[in-house]
Amino acid sequence: MRVMLEQANIATEYKALADAPYRLLAGDPGCGCVLICDHAANHVPSAYDGLGMDAGQMRRHVAYDPGAAGVTTGLSELLGAPAVLSNFSRLLIDPNRGEDDPTLVMHLSDGEVVPGNARITNEEIARRRSLYYDPYHAAIDTQIDTALATGRVPLVLSIHTFTEVWRERPRPWHAAILWDKDPRLARPLVEGLAAERELMIGDNEPYTGKLFGDCMYKHGTHRGLAHALVEIRQDLVREPEGQAEWAARLARIVEPLLGGASDNPLHRIEYHGSSTDAPADGGGQHG
Ligand SMILES: [Zn+2]
Repeated sequence: MRVMLEQANIATEYKALADAPYRLLAGDPGCGCVLICDHAANHVPSAYDGLGMDAGQMRRHVAYDPGAAGVTTGLSELLGAPAVLSNFSRLLIDPNRGEDDPTLVMHLSDGEVVPGNARITNEEIARRRSLYYDPYHAAIDTQIDTALATGRVPLVLSIHTFTEVWRERPRPWHAAILWDKDPRLARPLVEGLAAERELMIGDNEPYTGKLFGDCMYKHGTHRGLAHALVEIRQDLVREPEGQAEWAARLARIVEPLLGGASDNPLHRIEYHGSSTDAPADGGGQHG
């Protein structure tokens, strides 16, 4: 019922289609996979006047994950998998944070004040949740429910990108897999990527996947679906050629995992829990 109300709001609350909270890429719901791209867009809805940021800032990682949408789109096409992509900047509200995470709406980003967030009220945070954050997650739930209705339990793969330099130090990993306690998808992804000899693959680094209430927690851990988050270094996917190359690489690794039905552990509902279900250990930050 809650979802129905929020969906009804979409028609009346968004001034333009360009301001809709998410984009859906059609796919076969029975293909065994649902793709997610939390930081696909650097779009700030027109009512927010760009949050007071300049255009140069909005092209950087503080606003979104450059290249992630292109990789997700390519992978969706290659696997025939449905995909949900956010259509709002993480600076508006970060869909990959729990509702109570202090970084849900960033007041500072890369040490710079985000003017449109600096004096934000709880009411405004609640409004952004109901207009952007909640509908985005409801859309993911709908895709997962639609997939489950085919009789095939989908795995859930989330696509992110990270900056090639952090605090003036280059990051050596080409890509990373972030995960919590469910190894079913994370293991084969780490192994599949690491098997490509020229690649250095992070396993829960440079970030950890053990983050309470994040997107994978909500849709993977909580629902017992095999899941993982892949992070790709941004210099490798800034251009369409790199995005296509990484989409093809991920498709090569993921496609063989989609075989079989309930005899395949990847397509069973299993509850592995979360490290963050124990007394909070603070988790970590995602890219
Ligand atoms: Zn990200």
